[in-house]
Amino acid sequence: MAGSDHVAGRDQETGRAHAVPRDVADGPAPWLGVCGVPVGVVQGSWAGPRGLGSADPCPDCRRLVLG
Ligand SMILES: [Zn+2]
Repeated sequence: MAGSDHVAGRDQETGRAHAVPRDVADGPAPWLGVCGVPVGVVQGSWAGPRGLGSADPCPDCRRLVLG
């Protein structure tokens, strides 16, 4: 793994933010968060306001990315 380089993905059904590995996000949709939930949108850094800084960051993704 090349460090903790993740982007923020959003589950459009729940609005919850999930962490998506950047190499996954660079590929074709659908994208999977590190917790296994598919996301419909990827938007910026996981560490940023649309990820960890959002209203509802996924607790599983947060735990898995931080290790
Ligand atoms: Zn998640």
